[in-house]
Amino acid sequence: MTNWWLEEAKKRLFPLSKEQNILEIAIKEWIWIYEVIDLYPDRKFENNDDPEFIDGVEYNEEYAYCGLCGKERLRYVYLINNVFTNNFLYVGSKCIEKFDIVSQSGNIGEERNKELKKRLSETKKTTQQNHVIDCLEECIDSLNEEKYLSFIKYYKENGAFTPLQMLVIARRLEKQNIKYNPQFFKIKMRRDREKKQIFQIGPNDLIKYIIPIMTINQKKASYSLLETELKKIDGLPCPF
Ligand SMILES: [Zn+2]
Repeated sequence: MTNWWLEEAKKRLFPLSKEQNILEIAIKEWIWIYEVIDLYPDRKFENNDDPEFIDGVEYNEEYAYCGLCGKERLRYVYLINNVFTNNFLYVGSKCIEKFDIVSQSGNIGEERNKELKKRLSETKKTTQQNHVIDCLEECIDSLNEEKYLSFIKYYKENGAFTPLQMLVIARRLEKQNIKYNPQFFKIKMRRDREKKQIFQIGPNDLIKYIIPIMTINQKKASYSLLETELKKIDGLPCPF
């Protein structure tokens, strides 16, 4: 660990800890409480730097910094708690690893790292699901309430939409100017019924609304399905 790293950590940690002189002792007062926060689920990194400091995290629209080293550009921050002072700090996973901060269940090293990974993947999944449900809820009006509530129910049960459901949703989101992240939506295409929907949708809507949501394998499958079908019709190549 470089001196710079240690000095940064001291500067930030001592004011919130009981121990005031020895970093190794101060570090041991802190526990990662199994909390990960996704600061900006929809953001993209851009060079727009004018950070504020809120709840231990420096950030603006585009950036977040680790509350310990202050240097990393972060999207996910991990909440640590001091058992003596009850202060909280958001830090990056690298600092938890470097300073070997103990987890709530008492793990350090590799075992704690496994917990970090597991918690991160849970957080990512929750972020995606919340985004999808938020989008659907925004689509609801007095005329389509029943339809969108049934989409929400379907999504909660299946974790994905059929291609036709997805087309209806994507067009609605676009019409209402609701920004959505296509990568957070999922399509299911296991059954023949769902595969046939690809033909019902038509190439333009397929390229615009459905392809951006598909996995690579689903794209390949759709491509070969369409190619086979188009060969029978006009022999022209698949449009994507
Ligand atoms: Zn850090």
